[in-house]
Amino acid sequence: MNVIIFGPPGVGKGTQSKRLQEAYGLCHVSTGDILRREIAKKSKTGLEAEQHVTRGEMVPDELIIRLVKRRLANDVQCQRNGWLLDGFPRTARQANAMVLAGLTPHHILVLDADDATVSERVLRRARDASHSGRKVRADDNAQTVRTRLREYHSNRNAVLNEFDKCAASPDSNPRSTHLPARPRAGGCTKSRERFLSQPRFLRLSTVNGEPSVGNVTDSIRAALSQ
Ligand code: ADP
Repeated sequence: MNVIIFGPPGVGKGTQSKRLQEAYGLCHVSTGDILRREIAKKSKTGLEAEQHVTRGEMVPDELIIRLVKRRLANDVQCQRNGWLLDGFPRTARQANAMVLAGLTPHHILVLDADDATVSERVLRRARDASHSGRKVRADDNAQTVRTRLREYHSNRNAVLNEFDKCAASPDSNPRSTHLPARPRAGGCTKSRERFLSQPRFLRLSTVNGEPSVGNVTDSIRAALSQ
């Protein structure tokens, strides 16, 4: 099973991903973690990404697409067990590049929560890290969270649209949207038709990320098992 976990900063994508990794054996690919490791190593990629990450802005699409493709192509666990993408794709271009590369998600989990809730969580994470002597993320501060939220909201619909613009209308189940693997007339490129004509369903579920960690995990597991 290949899954994308999508949502605003601080909604709990990382926390839930760790739980899903354990429960389903998925290979967890967090682009934020990869970038932070590259920045710590002061690699060429890290140096290129650092300013963007510190300001809460997106790193260039080409850079992140290259990193994800390389990881998924070289990681045996990802190929064998399926992947869980956390923090990617974040722009329509990234989503489109995935589709073109034949990287096909089976399920897109959209974790939603209010801006006020997620901002408070990020700031609490920074305070907790500081009080317990752990490293505080360079981008966990009020100003940067505003930028990260702005980036998220300005790309959210375009990203989701990349996956469903060729699909037929969603069914009537209000909790999950099945995107049948048949392209709608018009708007589908050849490669996208190839992607969508595969005999599988792409499902999109929206999960409320505001309740406790355990409750959110239960909702995610229910969505994945439908
Ligand atoms: P969060 O979801 O809490 O903002 P992440 O750890 O996923 O945190 O990402 C941290 C930062 O890394 C982002 O603000 C951005 O600068 C960069 N980043 C991560 N993934 C991507 C991506 N897919 N495209 C562009 N930039 C990214």
